[in-house]
Order: sequence, then structure tokens, then C-alpha cells
Amino acid sequence: MSTETKFDVIVIGGGPGGYVAAIRCAQLGLKTACVDDFTGKDKKASLGGTCLNVGCIPSKALLESSHHYEQLNHGLENHGIKVSGVKIDIPAMIKNKDDIVGRLTGGINGLFKANKVSSFHGHGKLLAGKQVEITTTKNKVSIISAESVILATGSRPIDIPTATVDNTNIVDSSGALDFNETPKKLGVIGAGVIGLELGSVWNRLGADVVLLEAQDEFLPIADKKVAAEAKRQFKKQGLDIKMSARVTKAVSKGDKVTLEYEDATGTHKITLDKLIVSVGRSPNTDNLFAPEAPVDLDERGFIEVDEIWQTNQPCVYAIGDLIRGPMLAHKASEEGVAVAEVIYGEEPKINYDVIPSVIYTSPEIAWVGQTEQHLKSAGEKTKVGIFPFAASSRAQVLGDTTGMVKIISSEETDQILGVHIVGPQASELLAEAVLAMEYSASTEDIALTIHAHPTLSEALHEAALAVDNRALHIPNR
Ligand code: FAD
Ligand code: NAD
Repeated sequence: MSTETKFDVIVIGGGPGGYVAAIRCAQLGLKTACVDDFTGKDKKASLGGTCLNVGCIPSKALLESSHHYEQLNHGLENHGIKVSGVKIDIPAMIKNKDDIVGRLTGGINGLFKANKVSSFHGHGKLLAGKQVEITTTKNKVSIISAESVILATGSRPIDIPTATVDNTNIVDSSGALDFNETPKKLGVIGAGVIGLELGSVWNRLGADVVLLEAQDEFLPIADKKVAAEAKRQFKKQGLDIKMSARVTKAVSKGDKVTLEYEDATGTHKITLDKLIVSVGRSPNTDNLFAPEAPVDLDERGFIEVDEIWQTNQPCVYAIGDLIRGPMLAHKASEEGVAVAEVIYGEEPKINYDVIPSVIYTSPEIAWVGQTEQHLKSAGEKTKVGIFPFAASSRAQVLGDTTGMVKIISSEETDQILGVHIVGPQASELLAEAVLAMEYSASTEDIALTIHAHPTLSEALHEAALAVDNRALHIPNR
């Protein structure tokens, strides 16, 4: 804990928004402090926020481990590899995940030291005059101040009264990363990004998983065709996704949860070993500012900011999950860099139209730009090219031919408006599409770009050719 009290910039929150903002401020020569309250499983301060501690990284670690297990059990027969006696050690899997988290969060401490960012562990609260009150876990209070303050306190899981999280049988996403054995029967409320990723983890590890989704449309944020293909694959994997399901009651007793829900077919009662509640996240604004330093919120409780991420309070900024836009780590980090540069006197811009989204299930789902349904409803005239991985030689070699690449471009200019991928390594393939859209490329630009053979990226090339009915490895429309 630093003994300094006066800074150029104080960042409250040490997640991918806050820690990146702090490092960029320090790189620009600003004297910077970061206040973060996250305490790890070892009861020690742990930088990196939701993303590194209980979000992106631990969930991907478990997705990777469970994918290996799944592959050993079911994925290698086509390759002529027969495996028997595969055993699973869940505590070892969880330890591997914790070790990865420990190395990465420790890495941020190192980056802070190298960049001379002063780190404070405790709850930060904005007072008048850009002072920040810090309350430690032992209730010691101190005050530091700065010329500018960046609020980056992120978000937390939304609670629902019908299924109260007790952290034993009914858990949120953090609890679902720490089961010490595979639950036999696992319920998930919400078939969104977290429900699908964590439901997939435990399904691969042997749980019987049922997802209860309130909406009647599956993954409405994704392109309809891609969502439909993903749903078909999830069903094949054994995920039981119940749509238009309204949970009315969930009671945790002993080592079981009894859950009641209603859907179009009537009222149902199921008994579960564990229940994950993943129905969205809400911004962390509780006790974040004193009445003498009020910060305006929008109608959904997010902090209101202008085009330079400034709140109603001059020189007080907000970024990441705390403000409008997708709740994604890379969006938070981009805003962190941008705000640091605003404070330094520059005029950075973020292209919010080109933020990639990925769901790390199998198949992976990845997209950038607009969906076809959105463009249609906006009256845009478009061209569409689709290339299935079944026609990709590399996908055949991998033995993973599910899914497709879909490119949508403007009928008038051919500029790419959206790229949607469901299939193997969609997360990595998307980067080319993001770069293309950042440069306002046309599908012709991708068509003219030579792609190495045999690679999965050829599917993007072929989808670009398909926009003008000249794909080489599928019959044209
Ligand atoms: P956070 O990461 O939430 O960090 C905020 C920090 O501020 C936390 O450490 C918090 O403890 C601290 N804090 C809160 N209040 C105070 C206070 N008053 N004083 C001091 N400190 C405070 N996004 C992706 O892009 N890719 C993924 O694969 C992905 N996977 C995810 C998986 C899960 C299970 C979850 C839950 C989320 C996932 N996300 C993913 C979302 C991603 O984690 C968030 O979008 C991202 O962490 C937001 O960054 P942030 O810096 O705004 O806030
Ligand atoms: P989400 O918004 O993706 O999904 C929540 C789902 O719960 C929705 O489908 C919603 O209709 C449903 N729902 C809401 N209330 C319900 C109820 N009472 N009963 C049944 N269903 C209900 O939210 P999430 O999955 O909790 O994830 C939160 C955020 O974290 C997301 O915005 C996402 O951007 C981020 N995240 C990203 C990644 C990634 O980038 N791979 C991974 C995990 C989380």
C-alpha cells in the first residue's frame, strides 16, 4: 500500500478497464493510483477484476480443460485413436485454473510496479473535490486526491428473488467456477453467454444440464442463422435448453435444489444438485460516490458519460461495465486507454461499430458488426455470402466441420457490414474480419487477399467470394 496521497489520476477499480487505464496514464507520465477491493480465494488482494479473477480467464481455463476431456472421450475415434481409462480430477482442474489466475493477476502487480502505479487495496468512494476515500477490509479509512478520477468498478451478477444465491447449492457465475465435483443434475437460469459457457463446461464433465431461458428467442444478440446452428449443436451435445421458461421458485435444502418453472407446456418441478443463476450483470455503483459528489446514472443504473467518457462531474470519467455498451473486457480496456489519453490532452476515438463478440462454446460463436436481421429491419439492402466448414479441407482434417462463415455487405458499395462465424476456432478467425471492417474493407478486398492453404481462414475467403456467387468449393446459388 502506497503512502502517497496526491496524484494526477486515481482509478477506482482494477479490472481490464481500470488496470489498463492506470498503466496507460503512467506511460503518459501521469502520477497514478489504482484502488481496487477484490480479495482472492487466498484472502489476498488480487488485481484484474472480474475478468481475471472470476470471469474471462477462469471460465476459459475450465472450457479448455473440459474440452480436452471431451475430446479424449469422444473426439479422437475418427483419427483412429482409441482411448480408455480416462479419469477426471476436478480439484486438480480447479487448481490449474486457480494457478493460471494467480500467474496473470500477479503479472498485473508486476506491471504496476514497473510503471510506478501506486496500488491501494480497499473500497474506493468518490468525495467532493476529486478526493477518494479508501476503506480497507479492516475498516481503516484514508483519503487520497487527484486532478482526475476514473471510475472503473465494473459489474456484478444480477440477483433474482425466485432463486436466491446461497453459494452452496445455488450459485452465481463465480461459484460455478469452483464446484469440487461434477454435479449430477445441473440447472442454469439464463441461456445467455455465461449460461452457455459454464453449462458447456459441466456438461462436458458429465453433468446432466438443463438451461431455463425466459425469452422465446435463442441468443437474440447473434445472427439468426448462426444462433440456430449453434442451438442445434448444443442440443446434440445434450444441453437441454428450455425456452420461454419462467422460474417461479427455487428452494435449496440439504444438498439439493427443488426448482419450479412454467413454460408453454405447463408447470414443472425438477430436483437439481446445483443451480447456476446467470441472468445478466448490473453496474457496481453501490457506495461509489458520496452525496456531495453525485454522479448521474441512466435509467438502467449505468453511469452516464459523454463522448469523452466524462460524467456530469468535471474530470471524473467512467469506463467499462459501469457504462453503456457491451460488457466485454476488450471494450473496457479500449476505453481505459482512451480516457487516459483524454486526460493527457489527446482526442482518441473508439470505433464502437467494430467490437468483436465471442462465445467460447463448442462450436465457438463469433461476430463483428451487424446481424442480417438488424440490417433488414433497418431497411439496408445487403448481399450475403455463406461458406460451410464442411467444405473446408482444414476443417475436414481437424475432424470438426460444424458451422459456417457468413459475410454481409452493402449491396450498393460492397462494404462489409457484418461477419458471423460459428465453428472451429471462430474466435481466432474473427480477427481478420475485425481488421477488415476497421479498414472499411469490401468483400472484394477479402476475396483479393491470398489465404494460406489449407487453413480455416480460407472459409472467410470463400464466404467473401460467395457474396458474388463465385465461391470455388461450394455450388453457387
Ligand atoms: P471489472 O472487471 O468488473 O473490474 C472492476 C473491479 O473493481 C473489480 O476488481 C471490483 O472488485 C472492483 N471494485 C468494485 N467496486 C469498487 C470500489 N467501490 N472500490 C474499489 N474497487 C471496486 N468478457 C470478455 O470480453 N471475454 C470473456 O471471455 C468474458 N468472459 C466472462 C466470463 C464470466 C464468467 C464473467 C462473469 C464475465 C466475463 N466477461 C468476458 C465480461 C468481463 O469480465 C467484463 O466485461 C470485464 O471484466 C469488465 O471490466 P471492468 O474493468 O469494467 O470491470
Ligand atoms: P446475458 O445477458 O448474456 O444472458 C442472460 C440471459 O438470461 C438472457 O438470455 C436473458 O434473457 C436470461 N434471463 C434474464 N432473466 C431471466 C430469468 N428470470 N429467467 C430465465 N432467464 C432469464 O448475461 P450473462 O450470461 O449473465 O453474462 C453477463 C455479461 O457478461 C454479458 O453481457 C456478457 O457480455 C459478459 N460475458 C461475456 C463473455 C464472453 O465474451 N465470452 C462470457 C461471459 C460473460
